[in-house]
Amino acid sequence: MNKRVRVRFAPSPTGGLHLGGVRTVLFNYLFAKKHGGDFILRIEDTDQSRFVPGAEDYIVQTLNWCGMIPDESPVVGGPFAPYRQSERKESYKQYATTLINAGHAYYAFDTPTELEEMRNHFKTSENPSPQYNHAIRAKMRNSLSLDAAEVAALLSANTPYVVRIKMPDHEEVTFTDMIRGEVSFNTSQVDDKVLLKADGMPTYHLAVVVDDYLMKISHAFRGEEWLPSAPVHVLLWKYLGWQNEMPEWAHLPLILKPDGHGKLSKRDGDRLGFPVFAMDWTDPKTNEKAIGFKERGFLPEAFVNLLVVLGWNDGTDQEIFSMAELIEKFSIDRVHKGGAKFDYEKAKWFNAEWIKNADNAYLAGLVQPYFDAAGIVVNDPAYLQKIIGITKERCILLPDFITQAGFYFSAPTQIDTASIAPKWDENKKNFFEALCMAFENSNSNDPLELENIFKALTATHGLKAGELMLPMRIMLVGGKFGPGVFEIAATIGISDTVARIKHALTLL
Ligand code: GLU
Repeated sequence: MNKRVRVRFAPSPTGGLHLGGVRTVLFNYLFAKKHGGDFILRIEDTDQSRFVPGAEDYIVQTLNWCGMIPDESPVVGGPFAPYRQSERKESYKQYATTLINAGHAYYAFDTPTELEEMRNHFKTSENPSPQYNHAIRAKMRNSLSLDAAEVAALLSANTPYVVRIKMPDHEEVTFTDMIRGEVSFNTSQVDDKVLLKADGMPTYHLAVVVDDYLMKISHAFRGEEWLPSAPVHVLLWKYLGWQNEMPEWAHLPLILKPDGHGKLSKRDGDRLGFPVFAMDWTDPKTNEKAIGFKERGFLPEAFVNLLVVLGWNDGTDQEIFSMAELIEKFSIDRVHKGGAKFDYEKAKWFNAEWIKNADNAYLAGLVQPYFDAAGIVVNDPAYLQKIIGITKERCILLPDFITQAGFYFSAPTQIDTASIAPKWDENKKNFFEALCMAFENSNSNDPLELENIFKALTATHGLKAGELMLPMRIMLVGGKFGPGVFEIAATIGISDTVARIKHALTLL
């Protein structure tokens, strides 16, 4: 690559980050890091009506959580600051003027009512929502249809106007997409998009081209939903005389609903009970809350891993990748063209794998907030790490540690006696009373020795070990879960083991 690689993630701060958005960040980030380039965060906040307070901070936090820290951003600044488009407002107007002077754009004075009338007037069953385009512009009030004196009078009277691109009739616009190869559009299919709004703010179409140029962006990755806008952008690069600087485009395939029908939406997550956003998000206007992968108990490493395989593989069967490995292996020509179905069960599998292989001290730090919330008190950090080591193979999501490990710190408050009661009798009661005594006499913390004591005693009572193990487990942990029962007894210690059995006996 001869040009310095500079890529950007350019979100509009309109709400929580959908996992498709985070995957776009990830592909940007991996590409930049692989080529020793720069990863830029640019906030595209020119649409004031869609601005949502808190959304920018949320984006920054999400990137931090995933370990994808931008080299340049509104937070750290950089040589092309500012990185918020609302703060660059003044720079866009001159480019709109350049385009008007060159005959590639024009002033349009149509009021919202006039636009509405136009839509009603030209509406047909084949074309239910007519667009402002080459066929219609001559019938509207703009600097192409009105005479020069009238335009000058309207401008000097400060009549509100927008600037629109003048799309050529029947021209083929072609560019090479890194994922799709050659893509062509006929310009007569595309409307005369607004470039500058009545409030003086640019639209996305103008701002994205100007900023990608000024910020020397070499490669632009964005969602496939932007493909129909690409001909407008390609023409703007050409009309502004920058075509040799145009970034290479990559339009990323969608992440699809689990059944493969259509784009995965937040509503699918609500309906099917899984997160679609990276982190919890509460809409400040509606107070509507969306759950995030982070708070559900996903490790950031697992989140990155499950995202990358939604649309990419390295050509082998490998599924588990660390960020460092991804930076080394990522290549854009292995990004799939088709959409990738989201599978929440598979997503959880990635998390379980990452938990299983994670360092105990690292997991302890992640589990602690869940324990705090559940009121589980950890006095000894080394003991917590040990317990995490024993239980992590059984945990899929971080909150699973509350169930799988909480009983190592305090006696269970709920004991599933209902599962013991149907087969309970006096003989079993006697057995457990004798077991308590035998355990106390041994004062052992060796699981094997405890097991031997247990087995010897079952024989004395004419019982089978198999019918007593589950009751003992339930007495110690509260339910039918956890690692080996003698491991548990040895870890919590004889006095706690005996106390829990005795307490359970009072309930039976
Ligand atoms: N602001 C656009 C969005 O919200 C960015 C698209 C692009 O990356 O060009 O998706």
